[in-house]
Amino acid sequence: MSHWNHKHIIDLASFSLEDYKTVLELAKRFQNIPSSGSRKLPALQGKLITTLFFEPSTRTKSSFELAAKRLSAEIQSFSPSTSSLKKGESPLDTVMTYVAMGANVLVIRHSCTGVPAQLANSLDKAKKNVSILNGGDGLHSHPSQALLDLFTLIHFFDKSNPCIENIYGKKITIIGDILHSRVARSNLWSLTACGANVVLCGPPTLLPEEFIEFTSKPPSSEIDPIKKRGKVTISRSLKEALEDTDAVYTLRLQKERMSENLLSSLNTYHDDYGITHETMKLCKENVPILHPGPVNRGIEMSSELLDDQSICLVNEQVTNGIPIRMALLYLLATNTK
Ligand code: ASP
Repeated sequence: MSHWNHKHIIDLASFSLEDYKTVLELAKRFQNIPSSGSRKLPALQGKLITTLFFEPSTRTKSSFELAAKRLSAEIQSFSPSTSSLKKGESPLDTVMTYVAMGANVLVIRHSCTGVPAQLANSLDKAKKNVSILNGGDGLHSHPSQALLDLFTLIHFFDKSNPCIENIYGKKITIIGDILHSRVARSNLWSLTACGANVVLCGPPTLLPEEFIEFTSKPPSSEIDPIKKRGKVTISRSLKEALEDTDAVYTLRLQKERMSENLLSSLNTYHDDYGITHETMKLCKENVPILHPGPVNRGIEMSSELLDDQSICLVNEQVTNGIPIRMALLYLLATNTK
C-alpha cells in the first residue's frame, strides 16, 4: 500500500486507477477471510474508529462499525439525538471532542454538502493526526457506497477474475432521482474512471441537462488523475436507456431533500421510470439491477424485482459493504501522515 496518499476520503474525484485497485484488492483479501472460526483480524488493534452520523443511516453506519470490529479496532459511536448538539454545540466542537479522546478515523455523515471537507480542513489546520472518511454528505458524495457498487459489479461481470478492467466499455444505466443523489455523483466518478459509459435516465426535474458536464472538471483537484474517462449521456426514455445496457442502477426518490413537489404523481413516476420484471425485458439477458437502499418498494423498483435475488444485487451490495469499509478504514488508520 506504499503509494496510498489520501489522508481523508471525501470524494472520488481525486482517486487514480491505482487508488481504486488498492481498495478493491484489499477488500478482496478481507472478503476471503474464512467466516468460520475467529472472524477478527488484529490489523487495527489499538486504533479508535468513531462514527458521527448527523443524518440517519441503517446500512452505512452499521457496516462501518462491523468492519471496524472485524479489524479489532475500538469503536465509538456518536448519536445526535442524545448529544450536546441539542445544547447548541457545533459539529466542529463535537468532532474536536472525539479527537481529544484519541480517535484515529472519524466516519462522518451530514445532511449538508461540504461538512466533512470543512471539518477535514479545520483538523488539518489544527495539525490533528486524524482522518475523515465521508459517510455521505448532502447531495455531494458517498464514496464507500460507490466503491462497494464497483466491487459488486466487477464480481458480477467475472466472478473468477474480479478486477476493474471488467468495467471497461460497459454501458451502465443510472435511473431516477439523480439531482438529489450523492450515490449517483460518486458512481459517476468511479464508473467513468474505470472506462464505463454511463447513461443517466430520469425526468428533467430530477435530472437537469448539466449532468452531462459532471465529470469534466474534478471539484477537489485541478488535474483529473484519470487520463480518459468513459462518457456520460442523458436519456429521457427508459426504453432507450435500457437497450444494450450491461447493468441497471436505480435510485431512491429523496423526498426529504425536495423543497418543492418535483413530480406530478408517484404513480406516473413509477409508470415512466419504475423498474419491474417487465421493464427488465427491455434489457438483454442476464443484466443485474442494483440500488443503494433504502428502497421505496413499488416506486423505483417493484417489490417482486427487489426480492428476486437472481437479478437484484441489493443484498450482495450490503454484504460487499463490509470488506470495502474494512479496506478504507485500514488504509486510513494505518497510513495517516
Ligand atoms: N443510502 C444512500 C445514501 O445515504 C441512498 C439513499 O439514501 O437513497 O445516500
